[in-house]
Amino acid sequence: HQRVFSGMQPTSTLHLGNYLGALTNWVAMQKTHECVFCVVDMHAITMWQDPADLKRAIREVTAAYIAAGIDPKKSIIFNQSQVPGHAELAWICNCVARLGWMNRMTQFKEKAGKDRENASLGLYAYPSLMAADILLYKATHVPVGEDQKQHLELTRDIAQKFNNDFAPQIAELGLGTGELGFFPLPEPMIMGPAQRVMSLRDGTKKMSKSDASDYSRINLTDDADAIAQKIRKAKTDPEALPSEAKGLEGRPEAENLVGIYAGLSGIAKAEVLQQFGGGQFSGFKAALVDLAVEKLAPIAGEMRRLLAEPKHIDAILGEGAAQADAIAAPIMREVKDIVGFVRS
Ligand code: ATP
Ligand code: MG
Repeated sequence: HQRVFSGMQPTSTLHLGNYLGALTNWVAMQKTHECVFCVVDMHAITMWQDPADLKRAIREVTAAYIAAGIDPKKSIIFNQSQVPGHAELAWICNCVARLGWMNRMTQFKEKAGKDRENASLGLYAYPSLMAADILLYKATHVPVGEDQKQHLELTRDIAQKFNNDFAPQIAELGLGTGELGFFPLPEPMIMGPAQRVMSLRDGTKKMSKSDASDYSRINLTDDADAIAQKIRKAKTDPEALPSEAKGLEGRPEAENLVGIYAGLSGIAKAEVLQQFGGGQFSGFKAALVDLAVEKLAPIAGEMRRLLAEPKHIDAILGEGAAQADAIAAPIMREVKDIVGFVRS
C-alpha cells in the first residue's frame, strides 16, 4: 500500500515555483496514490507570522491546492494544527533524534542566518516535526524538491532508530510489519517533469516566497497585467535564443524562461527552442506572457472565487482534518503503547 504525504508552508502566497515544482506533480499523483496534502501551519510559525496574515495564508494555500486541481474528494487536504498527532509525535521524534543529526541540517543554518542565538527553538526542531508529519501517516512516499532531501533522510534516520530502540516492544505488541519494524522508511519521490524555477531577477537563485522583491516571482494570485509586467522586466542577456538546448549553458536567466515555457506548455525545452531559437527575447517573452496568462489566470480566478467564501474553505479543512485524524489517531495510540505511556 502506497501513501503519499506532502505539504507547503502558509508563509505567503504560492508562486510559479511551488506550482511547477510541486503542485502539478501532486495533482498527477492523485490518480495513482492515496494522498495526504497538508498546509503546514505549525511549520510556518517557526519564523514570526502575524496572526491575521497567517490565517489568510492558510486559506490562500488551501485555495491554491484546490484551484490547481487537487480534489478534496480524492485526496485529504487539511491544516496541520487541526490534527493533534503532529505535535504529539514530534515530541517523540525530538527524543529519538540526536543533536549531532540536527546540527547538520543546512536549512536551519540558512534560515537562522547570522543571528543564530535569536532563532526559535522551533526552527531548529523543524526537521523533527517534518519527520512526525510523514511518520504519523506511515507515509511510504514523499515528493521532495532538492531543498527538502536532507530532511527526508533525517526522517528515515528517526524512523530507523525508533524501530531499533523499541524493537522488543514492537515485537511483543505484534505491531511490526515484516522485517521493517513499526515505521516504514519513506522513499523520496523523484518527480517526473518537475523543475526548479529560478528567480526572475537572478537566474542562479530559486524563486521563493521569502525573496524581498515581488518582481522575482510570479504569484498564483497575480492578474494578467502583473504577469505581463514581471515577464517583460525579467532579467535576460543580450544574445538571441539558441536553437538547441546546449546553447543555454551559462545563461541561467534564458534557461529559466525557456524552462518556464516548457513547464507551462508541457513540452520539452528542445521543442521550445525549435520554435523560438534564433529570435529575440522580446518575441519570446510576448509568447510567454500569453501562455502564462492562459494557464495561470484560471487558477487565480478560481482562487478568488474560493476565497470569497472562507467558511467553505474552513469546512474543507475541517473535513480533511477529520479524515487525517482517522488515520493518525490509531497509529498514535500504538506509538504510545510502544514507548510505554499509560493510556486509561
Ligand atoms: P520559503 O521561502 O518560505 O521556504 P518556498 O517558496 O521555498 O518558501 P515551501 O513552502 O518551502 O516554499 O515549499 C513548498 C514546495 O514547493 C516544496 O515541495 C518545495 O520543494 C517546492 N518549491 C519551492 N520553491 C520552488 C522552486 N523555486 N522551484 C521548484 N519547486 C519549489
Ligand atoms: Mg522552502
